Amino acid sequence: MNICSFIDKENKVYSEEKPNFAPKKCYMGKVISAVKMKCPRCGEGELYDRSNLFSFKGFFKMKEHCSNCGMKYEKEVGFFYGAMYISYMLNIALFVTATVGYYLFFEEKYDWRYYIMVYLLITFMLVRWIYRMSRSIWLMIMVAYEPEKRDII
Ligand SMILES: [Zn+2]
Repeated sequence: MNICSFIDKENKVYSEEKPNFAPKKCYMGKVISAVKMKCPRCGEGELYDRSNLFSFKGFFKMKEHCSNCGMKYEKEVGFFYGAMYISYMLNIALFVTATVGYYLFFEEKYDWRYYIMVYLLITFMLVRWIYRMSRSIWLMIMVAYEPEKRDII
């Protein structure tokens, strides 16, 4: 369910039945889809299989098509290279947040070597989330929100 599909031109909010039109642009819907790791075009289909969250098999595997609208996620070979920039930005944001947090709250209590170890551990634990989120954000940037389109690759 996407919030943008349920708000019409007069700002009436539908709770049960989906109206048969969709707004042409809905940036909030795209952002929510990206955070939830859903299809950027329809906001319904999953980008990743959530059943294997803790298994190593399929750790970085992405679905090929949206199960709802049929959009192919990887539009061309190397399409997701751009997600590396998003991944870099997420890692920088994590580093700055962790470093500022350390110097503000923990500098006098703990040695900087502990900080480095804890930071590396947290980064290692977040590798999968950062990888997936960077691809999701990249798709959000590159694909228009058009929930009315179906089966067009
Ligand atoms: Zn879709």
